[in-house]
Amino acid sequence: MWKEIAAKISETTGESFEITAHRSIGGGSINQSYCISDRDRHYFVKINQANQIEMFAAEYLGLQQMYDTQTIRIPQPLCCGITGENSFIVMEWLEFGRGDSRSWELMGKHLANLHQSQASDRFGWTRNNTIGSTPQMNPWSENWGQFFAEQRIGFQLRLAKRRGGKFPNTEQVVTRVKEILASWQPQPSLVHGDLWSGNAACTVEGEPVILDPATYWGDREVDLAMTELFGGFPAAFYRGYNQTWPLDRGYEGRKSLYNLYHVLNHFNLFGGGYEDQGSKTITRLLS
Ligand code: ADP
Repeated sequence: MWKEIAAKISETTGESFEITAHRSIGGGSINQSYCISDRDRHYFVKINQANQIEMFAAEYLGLQQMYDTQTIRIPQPLCCGITGENSFIVMEWLEFGRGDSRSWELMGKHLANLHQSQASDRFGWTRNNTIGSTPQMNPWSENWGQFFAEQRIGFQLRLAKRRGGKFPNTEQVVTRVKEILASWQPQPSLVHGDLWSGNAACTVEGEPVILDPATYWGDREVDLAMTELFGGFPAAFYRGYNQTWPLDRGYEGRKSLYNLYHVLNHFNLFGGGYEDQGSKTITRLLS
């Protein structure tokens, strides 16, 4: 496997690469991760079963699109493919450090720059991708409320039902979400899509980086909402974001609706207390 991955890296970069060392990296939830090196180059590699190649192909495209904006540091993707029973993605290796309040302020500023950077006139994406390991559907839509209600909330509720989740009637919730978002017409922004603290880091030089995206064109508020789902990023992050592109006043009211998507996805991935958390949000929405 490693020989074939090295050959693909050589072919992509046009420079011969032979792996002299590889070590396993912890921290991921879905794939096996490695740092592979020759004497002077390092790459980050994620490995999964061959049938997961579409997940890596979508990650590759998302990283590349975000990288191309040159707004926020993203590990530059190199290649992805299949070797034998495995699929893989290779990207730039980054050395992470702690970061300080200046790093977090820059993280907010650069994320706002990403959100401002690409003008799409529709919501969705060029292909489906995944959120964690759950499929994420991205058919093009001109209507944000409809897109979010059907492709995000409705889709997760149908999965939850199959998983035995006891949430209220899907159609009723989807209709209510459309009503809530009916008068909100955000511009489509290229969003990270899965911006929890595990997917935000700083290099040893203190430069902010975002990783492991579930990219699409959506309301920028979905990224901000997710940063707040598990306790919030440092205050400097929100300062940097709002100085660059202030959030709309209605954001506070939409936040828990946007995070319902991730809560339902967590129920579908991990079960447990997320059912209770999701049900409470839904009851509030319907009341
Ligand atoms: P998974 O897709 O399995 O969730 P992640 O993309 O979250 O995996 O990566 C797993 C861990 O590897 C991260 O928590 C991070 O610490 C580290 N990592 C991710 N990308 C890089 C990179 N480009 N360079 C170095 N380390 C990385």
